[in-house]
Amino acid sequence: MIVMEAHATKAQVQAVVARIRALGLSAQVNHGTERTVLGVAGHETEDDLDALGLLEGVERVVRILHDYPLASRDFHPENRVIDLPGGAQLGGNAVLVMAGPCAVEGRSQLQEAAEAVASQGVKVLRGGAFKPRTSPYAFQGLGGDGLKILRSVADDLGLAVVTEVLAPEDVELVARHADVLQIGARNMQNYRLLQACSQVDRPILLKRGMSSTLEEWLQAAEYILAGGNLQVALCERGIRSFEPMVRFSLDITSVPVLKRLTSLPVVVDPSHAAGRYEYVPAIGLAAVAAGADGLLVEVHPNPSEALSDGAQSLNPQAFARMMEAARKVAEAVGRQIS
Ligand code: PEP
Ligand code: MN
Repeated sequence: MIVMEAHATKAQVQAVVARIRALGLSAQVNHGTERTVLGVAGHETEDDLDALGLLEGVERVVRILHDYPLASRDFHPENRVIDLPGGAQLGGNAVLVMAGPCAVEGRSQLQEAAEAVASQGVKVLRGGAFKPRTSPYAFQGLGGDGLKILRSVADDLGLAVVTEVLAPEDVELVARHADVLQIGARNMQNYRLLQACSQVDRPILLKRGMSSTLEEWLQAAEYILAGGNLQVALCERGIRSFEPMVRFSLDITSVPVLKRLTSLPVVVDPSHAAGRYEYVPAIGLAAVAAGADGLLVEVHPNPSEALSDGAQSLNPQAFARMMEAARKVAEAVGRQIS
């Protein structure tokens, strides 16, 4: 969009239009009451835009077309709100806490974890059935059996379920058991998986790749949106930095930046960023203060016996304390915890 100065002459406008067309781009001219605005479409480069901005009579060039038009707030100014079974909402005024173990290890473990989080008012149970483990020798999850356990335990307690899907061929199966499909950090740029998730009638929680920029992440979300699934939430879970004292570095700034760029709900996972349970509450609370629409928290009834991510899992008591503090922080920023 090229905004002309209030007193730009007709000749200046025509010169800008001619230049736009000479660059192989199309121009739409809107003569407003105060000033003329030109809409430019095509494959423009940054250099093209810089050149247009230098022409006489041009006040400024505003880039409104992104590589992620459907995700962008320009296209959809209001927050997108995702409704979940049981009345939970993601992207509304309440901050939605999703909690549970890293992995479903069995019925009694999941049952205990689910009861612990439900007793704190949590409405969405997390738990991995298909686990993307760094080592092929590590526990890979219970697969289809894990999904069944998840569904059954969640149904008993009236909870919704979020769980990871690793492969395009599993999307349908996971969608049959889960209410929200999670795409993990390691798969953020698995375009076949993104496309498969665009075809399913379930909200998608898209985690940030550990080395991905916000633009790459938003373009990954765009794959799902462009395929017709408009129910996408983004989940910041920390990025690689030079700092070895934490597992990943939580990019807290991504929250306000994303809230400006996109109308998709923004969730923060403090557990995978921290890597240690001691740090989880502090950065989870920081995320609420920063404007996150949701938290994804690992809670295990007995972290020292967890088959994955025990070190970063909160036990039920620590989770209860975090929830109590989160309610206060949410209230301080004009929100509630749900
Ligand atoms: C998880 O949520 O258990 C997980 C594997 O997270 P990430 O993809 O962020 O590493
Ligand atoms: Mn985990």
